[in-house]
Amino acid sequence: MSSVHRIAVIAGDGIGTEVMPEGLRVLEAAATKFGIGLQFDHFDFSSCDYYERHGKMLPDDWKEQIGGHDAIYFGAVGWPDKVPDHISLWGSLLMFRREFDQYVNVRPARLMPGVRAPVVRRDGSPREPGEIDMVIVRENTEGEYSSIGGRMYAGTEREIVVQETVMSRVGVDRVLRYAFEVARSRPKKHLTSATKSNGIAITMPYWDERVEAMAKEYPDVKVDKFHIDILTAHFVQRPDFFDVVVGSNLFGDILSDLGPACTGTIGIAPSANLNPTRQHPSLFEPVHGSAPDIAGQGIANPIGQIWCGAMMLDFLGHREAHDAIMRAIEACLAPGSDAPRTRDLGGQASTSDLGKAIAASVQAG
Ligand code: ATP
Ligand code: MG
Repeated sequence: MSSVHRIAVIAGDGIGTEVMPEGLRVLEAAATKFGIGLQFDHFDFSSCDYYERHGKMLPDDWKEQIGGHDAIYFGAVGWPDKVPDHISLWGSLLMFRREFDQYVNVRPARLMPGVRAPVVRRDGSPREPGEIDMVIVRENTEGEYSSIGGRMYAGTEREIVVQETVMSRVGVDRVLRYAFEVARSRPKKHLTSATKSNGIAITMPYWDERVEAMAKEYPDVKVDKFHIDILTAHFVQRPDFFDVVVGSNLFGDILSDLGPACTGTIGIAPSANLNPTRQHPSLFEPVHGSAPDIAGQGIANPIGQIWCGAMMLDFLGHREAHDAIMRAIEACLAPGSDAPRTRDLGGQASTSDLGKAIAASVQAG
C-alpha cells in the first residue's frame, strides 16, 4: 500500500451528503495529527440523483474508476420515492460487495457514554457504557442469499417454491478465520457462533463443524454456539455476555441490525464490508440509511459516518488514529461534556456543530 491512501468518497443520497463532510473533516484532523497521507476522490454515482440523470446507478466503467482505491468511504444510498430500493441497492452497494469480494461484514455494537440503551438490566436499571461492547461478523457473499432455486406450477394449487442455501468450505472458513482473528485481538477473546443445526439439518451442522475445526487453531479463544432464536433473546437480555459474534449471511444480517439497535441511536453505528485479502477495496458506511424524513435539515447525527472513518483508518493500518477518533467521539458524548448534541441525542445542535466538535477534540487530544 502506498504512503498516500487513495479513498473513493461516495456520499450518495439524503443525509449521506450531510454526514459525509463531517466524516471527512474528522479524517482530515486525524490525518494531520498523525501524519497520514489521505487522498479523497469524490464520485457522484451510486446515488438516486445520478440515476435520475443517467437511468442507472453506476457508469459502465465504475470498476476502473474506484477499483484501484485503497478504500471506499460511503454515505448512504436510496430514495424510495424516486427509485425503488431494489434498483438503488442492487445497482450499487450490492454490486460493490460482489465485484470487490467483500466477504466479511463487520458491525461493532458498543454502548457509548451519554447514550441510553433501550435494553436494560433484569432489575430495570440502565446499562452502563462499556457493558455492551461486541463485534458482529457476518458472512457476506453466500449462504442463504444464494438466489438459487425456482418455482414450479406457479399460480396453481400445486405451486412449489425452493431456494437453496450455499455454503462452501472456502466461503465459510474465510469468514470464520476473520472472526477468530478479531476475537483473538480483543481482551475477552470470546467468540460466539450463531447456528440452527437443530432445524436446518444439513448446512448448519456443516457450519458448526467448520467452527469446531478452526477452534483447534485458536486454543486461546473461548468458543460457544447458540441457536439463532435463543441468541436473539440473549442479545436483549444479557448483551454484556458477548464479545465477537459470527453468523451466516442471514443470521449475521439479523444480528447485525439487532446488536446496534440494543445500543441506542441508529445515528451512531458504523459498518464495514471488508475484503481482508486487500485485493479489492473495502467499503465503510454508517448503519443508517439516507433517512428521507430528516434529510435536508442539517440535523442528522454524523457519528456513524465518523466512526466508520475510524474503522477505515484502522483497516489501513492506523490503529492510533482510530483510537484517537474513538476517544474524541466518547469525550463529546460523555455526560457533562459541553459538546453540542444533535436531536437524536436530546440536543438542538446541527450535524456540522457536532462534527466540528469531534474534529477539534481529535486535534486537541
Ligand atoms: P435503509 O433502508 O437505507 O436502511 P431506512 O429507511 O431503513 O433506510 P434510515 O434511513 O436509517 O432507515 O432511518 C431510520 C430512522 O432513523 C429514521 O427515522 C431516521 O430519521 C433516523 N436516523 C437515521 N440516521 C440518522 C442519523 N444519522 N441521525 C439521526 N437520525 C437518524
Ligand atoms: Mg432499513
